This record gives sequence, structure tokens and C-alpha cells, in this order.
Amino acid sequence: MKRMTPESQSGSNLKDIKLLNRAVVFRAIREAGAISRADLAKQTGLNPATLTHITRELLDRNLIEDAGAGEARVGRRSSLLRIHSMIGNILAVRLARHNIQGLLTDLDLHEMVIHTASSSFLSNPIDASLPALLDGIETLIEKSGVDRRTILGIGISAPGPLDTGRGILIAPPNFPGWDSFPIRKIIEEKTGFTTFLDNDANSAALAEKWFGAGRNLDNFVFILVEDGVGGGVVINGDIYRGQHDIAGEIGHTTIDRNGAICACGNTGCLELYASPHAVENRVRQSLLAGRKSLVSDLSDNDINHISFEMIAKAALQGDAVANEALLEMAQALGVAAVNVINSFDPQAVILGGKVSLVGDLILPVIQEYVNLRAISRSEQKLQVLVSVLGENAPVIGAFSLVLRELFQNPEFHPAVDAKEEKL
Ligand SMILES: [Zn+2]
Repeated sequence: MKRMTPESQSGSNLKDIKLLNRAVVFRAIREAGAISRADLAKQTGLNPATLTHITRELLDRNLIEDAGAGEARVGRRSSLLRIHSMIGNILAVRLARHNIQGLLTDLDLHEMVIHTASSSFLSNPIDASLPALLDGIETLIEKSGVDRRTILGIGISAPGPLDTGRGILIAPPNFPGWDSFPIRKIIEEKTGFTTFLDNDANSAALAEKWFGAGRNLDNFVFILVEDGVGGGVVINGDIYRGQHDIAGEIGHTTIDRNGAICACGNTGCLELYASPHAVENRVRQSLLAGRKSLVSDLSDNDINHISFEMIAKAALQGDAVANEALLEMAQALGVAAVNVINSFDPQAVILGGKVSLVGDLILPVIQEYVNLRAISRSEQKLQVLVSVLGENAPVIGAFSLVLRELFQNPEFHPAVDAKEEKL
């Protein structure tokens, strides 16, 4: 089984279009459950020759099957297509600072149960967190009852910066022992499964493309607001990584060149104004200055226990301190949205992560910034959307990393033989 190198991934447009078309066909079949070729042509807008080529290719690779094939239909084969019922499963892991999420399901995402272990994770020393990760993978397989032989691969999303080509995490802040750790190689050696790694924002952007708010978009920028602020740039239906996997580091673009110094070495970075941590700090300052807020009650009057979730809750109940702190976040995200729109000319900007909790409150502010300030040549203003996958986007993205490989790389093949033994 060959892995695509980063060089070949960024290759020709032709390859992008193939991936895009295969993905469009796969998604249309998946969403319909079973669909005729005629309806598939209508849904996808692809011409008959291209559609025939793609469906034949997907049939040959056992990614889809004739629904009802083998059943005694008088005289003719059923022309309905569906996702191959025995295609196999994908294991996805999302590594975060304070928790780890796991998902093991089939290509149809039939049973999407996301398991979360919320004990400290990457912030623990590696000699504790790595064995916990490997145990977690084994437990997930055991509990799911899935036959190991049907697992196509493992997708991992982790905080950046990281090197997708070499499969290593690079100097993640506050993750003791993980610097330059060859995580992909170790997971492959210990589990025996081909493993793919990408950062959480790229993974989440991919999830939005395959399953979320970006499903009908080929060009969009995803901004992930979690512990930090990250971004994923989707161009022609696939992630744009740049030369050194840095593309999309929107959290470290300057929105105030006279601003404070960021941990990254730059000044006035978006993350300093738009991260949940920044919002928490602003609320703390207001409370220390004697302002009254619902957040005090929610945090049992302990400013060290203030969380973004509490602020979101208070803001939704009309709390002034919470809303002011969020307004500043929204304004910073508005500036960032205008910057990415003017840089990439996308169809939309999608916001995800913790920011989804306050989408209704901050979206109008961001949209107004975009309407006023982004360069636009069309009558229709560019849309700012909120993720529909919420906090699950990165783990669904880790799943999508393997799915993407399945469609991108014809040599990455489901092990159908192993499954046939089971029948
Ligand atoms: Zn920075």
C-alpha cells in the first residue's frame, strides 16, 4: 500500500478534479442510500461519460455496489447503486490538549458514536499519554466489536504545527515530549494500520467539505476557534497545505501590528484577540474591575474557574460583560475573515470549534464587517457560515483523512478479501 507523498498530493489540477468528481459521486450515493444512474447524473450534474467512468471505477474498487445485485430480479440487473456494504471501517482519533476523541465506523458513517476521554491528554508527559493513546485505540476496537481486518486505516488529527509528509508533530506548545515525535510511524508499528496525520484545522475543514457546511462548496476557508485559532484552506475541493504545511495558520496573522507579542514571535496575532482564552481574560478583567456578571454565579465566584462555555451561556442570557467580551472576539474574527477573503477569494468562510456555541451572537458582526470591507465583485455578499459539525469536526476530519486517501489514491485499496472470509 503506497502513501501519496505531499509533493504528489499538491500535483496536477487533473488529479484534483478526479478527486472532486469521485467525492461528489460517492457523497450523492451515500446521501441517497441507493440511487439510479439517471438520478445520479441529475444530482451531480456530471456528463454521462464521466459518470460512467467514475461509477465503473468505484465499482471495480468495491467502494460501491449494485444494490440488489445477486437478487433474483427478472431479466435485468438492478440499476441502483449504493455504498458497498462490506467495505470496511475507519478509525479516527482527535488529539487535543485536554482530551482525546475516538470514532470507529464504516464509510457510510452509519453509527457515529464519538468516544471522548477528558482526562488531560497531550498536556500530559508523553510516557503517560502515548500508552494511553495506544490503549484507547485497542479499547475502541474491542468495544466496537469490529473485525480488525475490516479496518482500512487510522486518521489522526492533532494540534499544529506538524509535518504531514513525515507524520510528526513539530514543537507543539506545552506538550511535553511530543516535539518531533514520529507519531504516525509509531501508531503504524504498534497497531499495524496505515495511518494518516493532519492538523486539527485542516482535518475539520476536510470534515466540513465531506459532511458539513462546505459540502456544496469547492473553495472555502475554515476558521477553527478552539484553544488556539487555526485555519484550513480548501481549494478545488481539497486542502491547500502550502510548501511547508503552514498554509491556513490564520491564528498567527497580524491584525494589529502594534499589538502584544504572541508566543509565535509575531505581534498582534488574531489568536491573541479571538481565542476563547482571550475572551475569558477579558471577562476576568471586567470582574476584577468590579463589574457584575452572570459569569460570577456560573463560576461560583472563582475567576480561575471561568470557562468559555460559561461566558457563552451568560451571553445568550443577555449578560453585558459576556457580550462585550464576545464582541471583541467577533470584531477580530471579522478582520480575519476580510483578510482571508481578500487573499483567497473563496465562496464562503466557515467558522467552527467552540465559536459554534455563540454563532448566533457573533455571526451578524462578522458578516457586517465582510459586507463593508471585503473586496467583492458580485452583487451577492460572501457568506460567513457556522460549522454544522461543531466540536466534532476535527474527529470527523480525522475519519475523512482516510476517506480522502481512498478516493485520491487508487492503490489504497479496501481489503475486501479479508471481509469475504467472514461471510
Ligand atoms: Zn502568533
